Amino acid sequence: MNIVVLVKQVPDTWAERKLQDADKTLDRASVDVVMNEIDEYAVEEALKIKEAATASGGEASVTILTMGPDRAVETIRKALSMGADKAVHLSDDALKGSDAVQTSYALAQVLSTLEYDLVITGSEATDSRMAIMPALLAERTGQPQLSGARKVTASLEGTVGTVRIERQTENGYDVVEAATPAIVSVVEKINEPRYPSFKGIMAAKKKPLTNLTIADAGIDAAQVGLASAPSQVVEFSNKPPRQAGQIVKDEGDGGVKIAEFLASQKFV
Ligand SMILES: Cc1cc2nc3c(=O)[nH]c(=O)nc-3n(C[C@H](O)[C@H](O)[C@H](O)COP(=O)(O)OP(=O)(O)OC[C@H]3O[C@@H](n4cnc5c(N)ncnc54)[C@H](O)[C@@H]3O)c2cc1C
Repeated sequence: MNIVVLVKQVPDTWAERKLQDADKTLDRASVDVVMNEIDEYAVEEALKIKEAATASGGEASVTILTMGPDRAVETIRKALSMGADKAVHLSDDALKGSDAVQTSYALAQVLSTLEYDLVITGSEATDSRMAIMPALLAERTGQPQLSGARKVTASLEGTVGTVRIERQTENGYDVVEAATPAIVSVVEKINEPRYPSFKGIMAAKKKPLTNLTIADAGIDAAQVGLASAPSQVVEFSNKPPRQAGQIVKDEGDGGVKIAEFLASQKFV
């Protein structure tokens, strides 16, 4: 079973993030970057499926796919050090500023060059938070989408594959099944991602990493990049600075003053 995991490098959730005045895109250069958190769960789930397949005598491989600038290789290395087998990195200056529709086009083009039974993604990236990539990819590839998985089981008999998920709902879960190849997005409940071991980190340095430009992947330059993005950020405003807090001096009536404050703010 061949599994592709989509992994995105995002600005550290705890870093202060800013849009740039010049082109209204996120300033990614001046902040620390990390693997999108939910993508760690996607990698973990792929590794578990691979382990289950190999334990029952089958074969499986896990390929990481990332679209992002050169430094996204750090995130790819992390996924490889967790245990993924190989990676594909789509990186090209022409992709800068691509919006979600264009990103899905570029990722689908790369997917069309790979052999896979399952694509596993996170359910949402913490920077743009559109939670739309799995659906866009399902539409572009014509493959079923199984979203919001809190459990995944996949089997392959000969060339016939099936994937079944428990889809997290507000009240419990739905069981959803599809034939492979399919696109599955996972939620954080699904597992506990492993930490890369020292051995894993060393091994990651030698694992195959394929670097692709848009030309390599057959991506039309006119369909990617900020200038031709179907959606544009037209305006933004920064968060207002935090107001100084109100200090209540306790002169025997501190409790009353706090209660009055809470009432004035309609908390009580
Ligand atoms: C005008 C404009 C300019 C933009 N410019 C840039 C830019 O220069 N650089 C940039 O990175 N973003 C840019 N973005 C944001 C970019 O469009 C989105 O990040 C991207 O389309 C994915 O959407 P999302 O992050 O909301 O992913 P979601 O749909 O929330 O992500 C779901 C899952 O999809 C997968 N995924 C998402 N993106 C990728 C990826 N790139 N590679 C691999 N897997 C992925 C991950 O598994 C993730 O967990 C821009 C957006 C706009 C509107």
